[in-house]
Amino acid sequence: MRRVQRVSTGYLTFHIFPTMKKSLALLLLLSNHLFAQHDKIDVKQYQFELNVNDTTDVIRGKATICFKALQQSENVQFDLVGFDQKSGKGMKVTSAKEGNNDLKFQSQTDNIIISFLKQAEAGLEKTITITYEGVPADGLIIAKNKFGHRTIFADNWPNRARYWIPCNDAPADKAAVSFTVIAPDHYQVISNGLVKEETNLPNHLKLTQYEETVELPTKVMVIGLADFAVQHSGDVDCVPVYSWIYPEDRAKGFYDYAVAKDILTWFISNIGPYSYKKLANVQSTTRFGGMENASAIFYGEGTLTGNGSNEPLLAHEIAHQWFGNTVTEKSFEHLWLSEGFATYFTDLYLEAKYGKAKFDERLTDERNKAIKFAKRTNAPVINPTTDYVNLLNAFSYQKGAWVLHMLRRKLGDDIFWKGIKEYYSAYRGKNANTDDLRTVFEKISGADLKAFFQQWLYTKEHPVLDVSWKYDQKKKEIAITVLQQQQKAFDFPLQVKLGSEVKQLDVHEVKTVVTFPCNAKPSAIILDPEVNLFFEGISKEVKQ
Ligand SMILES: [Zn+2]
Repeated sequence: MRRVQRVSTGYLTFHIFPTMKKSLALLLLLSNHLFAQHDKIDVKQYQFELNVNDTTDVIRGKATICFKALQQSENVQFDLVGFDQKSGKGMKVTSAKEGNNDLKFQSQTDNIIISFLKQAEAGLEKTITITYEGVPADGLIIAKNKFGHRTIFADNWPNRARYWIPCNDAPADKAAVSFTVIAPDHYQVISNGLVKEETNLPNHLKLTQYEETVELPTKVMVIGLADFAVQHSGDVDCVPVYSWIYPEDRAKGFYDYAVAKDILTWFISNIGPYSYKKLANVQSTTRFGGMENASAIFYGEGTLTGNGSNEPLLAHEIAHQWFGNTVTEKSFEHLWLSEGFATYFTDLYLEAKYGKAKFDERLTDERNKAIKFAKRTNAPVINPTTDYVNLLNAFSYQKGAWVLHMLRRKLGDDIFWKGIKEYYSAYRGKNANTDDLRTVFEKISGADLKAFFQQWLYTKEHPVLDVSWKYDQKKKEIAITVLQQQQKAFDFPLQVKLGSEVKQLDVHEVKTVVTFPCNAKPSAIILDPEVNLFFEGISKEVKQ
């Protein structure tokens, strides 16, 4: 996902409405004690039927959930935010059934517990149907768009699917999904997967059914309803690419989103096959700059420019179709496997298209952001917090991208790309954590990467360098002293530019002194001229 834009530059950066952030954080805290429930079942498939209307914000739903019990159990728990008397929002469950049998259930603030007729053994598959209704307090946003038209858009990240669909709301439990939506017939409905049915019903209603057979995490399962202009902008490897735009923004949006075909082509040829049967880029009311919902990416309605300047945003969200959606982090602790990857693969796509100067400019900007963030955080990139919203920070995004960049420079382009392809193919459709990624790269490269991953991802610090140099006119040589000023010494190559020459110093200790022959005294030495190291520091001459 990407953060809401700073309007003046057109560059998209992260932002969540501050008030929303607080209340969300509180809810996440409240739900923490239930997380242990998430690994008790493995959902295979969700079938959701939802009725929406134009006169109230009440949704009526039926969820048919097929799951496997992973341990012996008397009941099953699904995440679902219950009805709250005070706000009048939340879901009231009216029945829970297994086949024709009614099951006892108990609705709680954040979930529903359904008792089985008899104890289920580990490994048993069950299908349970839950009917419910209510006004969603969040997750499914029923609101007017910027043109004053009523729209309905799901916005689930990180665990807000539970506000409108009963589910096992954790990234590790991926499942197939189908949505059947019955809505007033002026709406066009977008969702994950392909349309299976579209039927006009009496009373100006329309039924639209989508089905996605590839397993998805709940954070990217969505529906979107609005009056849309829809363009099929072309096919890439038999995958149709669509632009879904508010009719008023039709020209701007069709222009901006047409670049999706180039991006899709580049990712398929560099990483591996695209996992879904279509790609729709959708203008929406998402609170994020962009949200990578599988095969139906939602973009903030204000992000269209009509001049193509949002290409990096499209590249970021499309990159997530590989990293985040197809290979999903096992838990949000490893969010950089989504956001760091989407950030770096945007850089790589733009490097291939616009050249190295553009790439260096982006990496420099990303390093600045992450180093600025380092000064106000106490946690490293891998951060086991349950305040997921706070993980949407410059460590998960920009420093994550930098870790991949340094891994690429350490191993070389050939091994880097082999490792990326292998990681994608090994974990396609599954979940991975940081150790899984490391193991793949160790296998491909033959190198031990434990120390590399440890210092860049599990350590909050980064190299803070004081570099001094002295030129010896008689000996025609230069002595360079590198002092690491952070608490723990890092291990890294430091490139320096002396005149027109680039030299490399291997730094392991707190203090490193290296001398190079040098025919003339340089006017200055430039640290990291090729933009290859995540560090901060200065170089200065020490007079004789
Ligand atoms: Zn993202």
